Amino acid sequence: MPKIIIDEVRCKGCGLCTIACPRKLVTLSDTPNSFGYTVAVFSNPEKCIGCALCAEMCPDVAITVFKESQP
Ligand code: SF4
Ligand code: SF4
Repeated sequence: MPKIIIDEVRCKGCGLCTIACPRKLVTLSDTPNSFGYTVAVFSNPEKCIGCALCAEMCPDVAITVFKESQP
């Protein structure tokens, strides 16, 4: 199953990935992190199709997409 991992240290909470995801699986946290950013949060991972649009949109290269389960 595809999945994404969001690097919370790199994420600046710009929200571009939330717009990019065709399945609306990425949202912004309600709570700021230690840097004051409302970072991106991945939910409903079973619905991810691995399209990588979220990662391509991210200006801070905070999202890594795994197309299939890693061995
Ligand atoms: S890989 Fe595609 S479906 Fe999965 S979270 Fe990113 S934009 Fe959404
Ligand atoms: S596009 Fe990147 S920096 Fe912006 S909210 Fe999404 S993961 Fe964070």
